[in-house]
Amino acid sequence: MQLPEKFIERMKKRLGADFPAFLASYERPPYRALRVNTLKISAEEFVRRAPFPLGEQIGKEGFYIREEKPGADPYHFAGLYYLQEPSAMSVGGMSAVCPKKRVLDLCAAPGGKTTHVAAQMAGEGILIANEVNYARAKILLQNVERMGICNGAVTSASPRTLAALFPAYFDLVLADAPCSGEGMFKKEENAIPEWSMENVARCAARQSEILDCAADMVCPDGLLLYSTCTFAEEEDEWQVEDFLRRHPAFECVNMQKLYPHAFRGEGHFCALLKRRDGEFLRAKPYPVQKSAQAEKAYRAFCEDFFIAPPTGTLHTLADGRMYLLPAGMPDLKGVSLLRLGVELGEWDGKLFKPAHALAMALGMRARRKVTLSREEAVRYLHGETLAADIPNGWCAVCVEEFPLGLGKAVNGTVKNHLPKGLRMIK
Ligand code: SAM
Repeated sequence: MQLPEKFIERMKKRLGADFPAFLASYERPPYRALRVNTLKISAEEFVRRAPFPLGEQIGKEGFYIREEKPGADPYHFAGLYYLQEPSAMSVGGMSAVCPKKRVLDLCAAPGGKTTHVAAQMAGEGILIANEVNYARAKILLQNVERMGICNGAVTSASPRTLAALFPAYFDLVLADAPCSGEGMFKKEENAIPEWSMENVARCAARQSEILDCAADMVCPDGLLLYSTCTFAEEEDEWQVEDFLRRHPAFECVNMQKLYPHAFRGEGHFCALLKRRDGEFLRAKPYPVQKSAQAEKAYRAFCEDFFIAPPTGTLHTLADGRMYLLPAGMPDLKGVSLLRLGVELGEWDGKLFKPAHALAMALGMRARRKVTLSREEAVRYLHGETLAADIPNGWCAVCVEEFPLGLGKAVNGTVKNHLPKGLRMIK
């Protein structure tokens, strides 16, 4: 691997005697890992059912893996795990101790940290997962829905827009900022050609702006968790020092830098910053829209579909799309919104049609389930129609007991309602 000369020079100076070991780390392939989604299964149970060999454990829910295609397994489609670079899990490790009534992940796509924090929140509180790049926000949404996260929203706004809306509001703001990606040299082919000292400086300037917005949104005694996947001090330690100079109300309570020669991962930096004082502000509640007729149709569906219908606030858009909002959802006025709570489905003026996201978040409560083996699940994921001896109506199609999506049973045949864009490619 041809590393940039200037990068080598800087790392040599910084690491001294450790530099040869650091350089040697570029000779081995990148580490791979998964993190068990404890919203759906405990780490212990996942170990019992693991579909491929698991290596050493990372933290409470992570495991090294060697599997070539871990994203093609039915358990992955069911949201039982998230594929995450091992050192990136350190951010979730640091957030584990944070209070989490209201959390914002400011730079969230594709969703590694969002899904980690969501699992720690266990469905309680409010989690806003934001990604400024709309195309990337759609990938974030897919991951949020696959993992069955119910207690939040997926938005696509600039940090500045959010800072204007949520002054001193969040208990925890995550800022996993765009960076020069020195820890991605092995994983992303553009990381090396795009690296330059000018880019390090550009990233550092952008990170300062993101951090200033993030700071505005942290409530008194709240925390700001800043992270990058680079080693450049301008973006890491010096960035934090500069931040503390600009924001004397904050102190650094924890800082960690993982290097690839000292940790079995590609490298990460994170710093936990605590706001000591300031004024606590409330946000306005989300302006819920009601439709008595749509709710009647939805409740009729619930009676038929669920053993125990979920509780929460129903929100119905003018076009009939319905959502289940968690308690305490704040107003998101002016913010581009990809998802609010759980997408339940759509009322067409007569009937309620459930959404895929409902199956992923709430399908475990379904009365009618088609329980497939892992082999049969692959057929469903390819879009095939199934045979099942169950009463007619909507059903949750599951790999073992874990929902993969919806089906509609008609006289022994189950029509496949897995959205085309989410199917397994043959
Ligand atoms: N937290 C994510 C995860 O764990 O999966 C990874 C986030 S990635 C390191 C940084 C993200 O910041 C990218 O998705 C990028 O689109 C976004 N971004 C780029 N410029 C930004 C800006 N000016 N403000 C906020 N986010 C930005």
